[in-house]
Amino acid sequence: MIIEIITVGNELLIGKVVNTNAAWLSLFVVKRGYRVSRIISIGDNEEEIANEIDAALRRKPDIIITVGGLGPTFDDMTSKSVAKGLGVSYEISEEALAIIKSKYQKLGLELTKERVKMAMMPKGATVLKNALGTAPGFLFKTDKTLVVCLPGVPAEMKSIVESYADTLFPVVGELVEYILVASGIPESSAAPLLAKVVNENPFVYVKSHPEHSEGESVLKVHVYAITHDQYVVRLCHDVAKRLKGDLEMLGAQVQGDV
Ligand code: ATP
Repeated sequence: MIIEIITVGNELLIGKVVNTNAAWLSLFVVKRGYRVSRIISIGDNEEEIANEIDAALRRKPDIIITVGGLGPTFDDMTSKSVAKGLGVSYEISEEALAIIKSKYQKLGLELTKERVKMAMMPKGATVLKNALGTAPGFLFKTDKTLVVCLPGVPAEMKSIVESYADTLFPVVGELVEYILVASGIPESSAAPLLAKVVNENPFVYVKSHPEHSEGESVLKVHVYAITHDQYVVRLCHDVAKRLKGDLEMLGAQVQGDV
């Protein structure tokens, strides 16, 4: 199951806001067995968002997630752009409007056109209730792809994802991972060994992260698989165990629970 994530907001492109939403979301879905094939960030631009949605739909992933730009301000244009990218009309969702109306009524605030805008969605979208904020999210089903649009405020995004997790991202597998910490060998010495292991085990990912500690080179090796297959779960463990032994043979001291 493949997921593409599109994060929207000028603030992400000028280094003002660290894209924690993309990291949180991808880990959330990867742990449920999905593979994230792409994360992109784009600015608050209707044409660009619509084009990205259109391009993503053509790649036919199982799910496209957009984050950000659902609010009341002039630069919140994700809903309109997603409608454009989907090729459907952009209109008021009566369900979303009722939710927004009641929230502002409780606050004693009138329903301005900016507030009504948060109820506008692609025609045929289903509302995702936002318990922590005002702008609801929504989902839209095409023949091949589920499009999920979430607000940008991290706490709101997380609460929607967590409360709709089983509907949006039913568990289809798991993330199996091992971390080996090898000291005393540089990454370049371990490289041929890592390449061999990767070539021999296409279902297991191996990624090395070089670090330094007190003048000594330390190599963190992440061995992982995203899978629903018990054979791959065992394979991942075996690969990590073998890699630990092979790194020790190269003269490294290796820590890691395998
Ligand atoms: P709301 O109407 O609730 O504000 P929104 O969908 O309009 O939601 P944005 O205006 O796009 O959300 O973003 C709101 C705030 O959330 C931003 O100012 C930023 O601080 C934070 N934010 C947005 N996108 C991200 C992101 N990808 N990672 C981390 N923080 C983000």
